[in-house]
Amino acid sequence: MNIQMVDLYGQYFKIKDEIDQEMHQVIRSSVFVKGGKVFEFEDNLKKYLDVEHVITCGNGTDALQIAMMALNLNEGDEVITSPFTFVSTLEVLALMKLKPILADVDPNNFNIRPDLVNCHIDHLTKAIIPVHLFGQCADMESLTQIAQDNNLYIIEDACQALGTEYIFKNGMVAKAGTIGDIACNSFFPTKNLGAFGDGGALFTNNNEFAQTMRSIANHGMGNRYYYQQIGMNSRLDALQAAILDVKLKYLDQYIQARQSAAEFYDRELATIQEISIPARVSYSSHSFHQYTIKVPKRRNELQRFLHSKGIPCMVYYPLPLHLQEAYQYLGYRKGDFPVAEELSEQVLSLPMHTELTIEELKSIISAIREFFS
Ligand SMILES: *Cc1c(COP(=O)(O)O)cnc(C)c1O
Repeated sequence: MNIQMVDLYGQYFKIKDEIDQEMHQVIRSSVFVKGGKVFEFEDNLKKYLDVEHVITCGNGTDALQIAMMALNLNEGDEVITSPFTFVSTLEVLALMKLKPILADVDPNNFNIRPDLVNCHIDHLTKAIIPVHLFGQCADMESLTQIAQDNNLYIIEDACQALGTEYIFKNGMVAKAGTIGDIACNSFFPTKNLGAFGDGGALFTNNNEFAQTMRSIANHGMGNRYYYQQIGMNSRLDALQAAILDVKLKYLDQYIQARQSAAEFYDRELATIQEISIPARVSYSSHSFHQYTIKVPKRRNELQRFLHSKGIPCMVYYPLPLHLQEAYQYLGYRKGDFPVAEELSEQVLSLPMHTELTIEELKSIISAIREFFS
């Protein structure tokens, strides 16, 4: 048995003919950058999400930068986000010379806590970036209220949550990434909808932001070779669009496969006292970009044990962002975000992908049982 953290080849192999054919068509057309295939994919993703605009770009990190450029945030403006996530958010804020203000996360669902966001708002605050970590949405209804009360933008980092559904208190349902002013998504190969390389996208219901972001992603160009603003070169290429367009048809199926694996894990792990299974919130579905358990004691030992049995598992994330060397200039110290710090010592993500078999899941469970027996 060869258990993988993510099985990208297995996923491709099932739809190989369809993907190969689409790739050949792009090569035959030799329109490799922009062009019809990219617009076709944007259009299909727009319909899937039920959002007004989808603008593809080079990767999820660029998407964050394009969003911040489009919102016209200026040096010194404050943006509130999470210390317990992938580095991109903080990195882009730093590059843009904006001031990141971190707010601690909920120990159960790993997402930013609206009440703590509220504590950090002052006259310099311009935006909030909730990250829908591991595939489950942050509390968007509370965050939207806070944003409205304080005249702030919300940029959703939906990179790990494409296909996740948000459930409003009145029963309305919306896809993750369609609720804030702008949302950022990544098509990194291991994400819910993964390309065969880098890719990203922005979502918005705001026409003006959409137009600006489309221009920024293409050098700030208006009419051909006339530049209205400083932009970037950040585009999804046609081969990636063709691949993504095929895989988009299977996205809901992929998410169901992840959810079934998660349910299996839940059932089997619920009885192991040393572990907490991922908590679910009432306002969001879970697309299980990651299946992340908490192991308050002996997490590292468990990880080493599983590795010795040939079972991959990963710590996302081993050091919260405020303690990273590159971001010491922000002036945060150990103890500032106790929940993020504790989580980084307790979390463990188990193999999670669309191709996991019952046999694989059983052998992962039995290894975990063996460790705790
Ligand atoms: C993957 C990811 C990003 C960055 O996406 P790239 O396409 O790798 O640049 C940003 N934020 C989060 C939460 C991510 O998981």
